[in-house]
Amino acid sequence: MSALNNIVQYPTKRIKLPQSGKIINLRPFIGKEQKSLKYALESEDKASISSTFKNCIQACITEKVNVGKLSLLDIEYLFLQIIIMSNGNIVNVGFPCFNEVDGKKCGTPIEMGIDLNDVQWPKDIDSSKTKEFTITESVKAIFKKQDNSNIFTQFAEHYVDEDKARQKHKNAEEEIIAKALVTVYHGEEVINAEDEDLESRMRFVNDIAGSTLYDIEQFVSDTDNTGVLESKFKCPKCKFEHTEVTRGIENFFV
Ligand SMILES: [Zn+2]
Repeated sequence: MSALNNIVQYPTKRIKLPQSGKIINLRPFIGKEQKSLKYALESEDKASISSTFKNCIQACITEKVNVGKLSLLDIEYLFLQIIIMSNGNIVNVGFPCFNEVDGKKCGTPIEMGIDLNDVQWPKDIDSSKTKEFTITESVKAIFKKQDNSNIFTQFAEHYVDEDKARQKHKNAEEEIIAKALVTVYHGEEVINAEDEDLESRMRFVNDIAGSTLYDIEQFVSDTDNTGVLESKFKCPKCKFEHTEVTRGIENFFV
């Protein structure tokens, strides 16, 4: 065994996961992990991105906690803490000012550091597995939260082809919601939706009003529980105040 083996020790940080309340120790990404994340992203291979992210996050946890079993919010939180430990809490962003002055875009380059420690985490976390929604006056429906086995795959899709992922997400959205439909109450009648075929459930979902469908989707996909970062940038030239709202694990990784 070489004298160089196992002599590098990393600082660990104790954190409390916001949803499960689990307390875990984290260490930062090491060089070879950052390299493999970079290669995985460059490969544009979904399976590789998804498994590399999962493995690298898992490797930074010093306890026996399976990241594949954590909620989206907990993964987001611990991922952000690892990023802060590895790269620091300030991320520099730059964009041309898009405020219009006298009908012309200002265009002044704005450079700002955003502070990842300013991410706001939800206070009232809804951990319920099922929820009832009112569809019409006489129809109520119970939906269940989708399991989170595909969090890392969704994350990978975001990187591989953003437009395609968004389109696919939109097409798959109704199917995800239809699969999450558990029970429908129609007046006195109780319909066990899980006994119905997927096509009938899809038809039912297609008849739901857009705003209700949006709420259902937020619940089913668990995206109503997420960290939000609001940053304000003032243009040095036109003095316009830009507000940038960032949410979601894939958008914190810059
Ligand atoms: Zn400006």
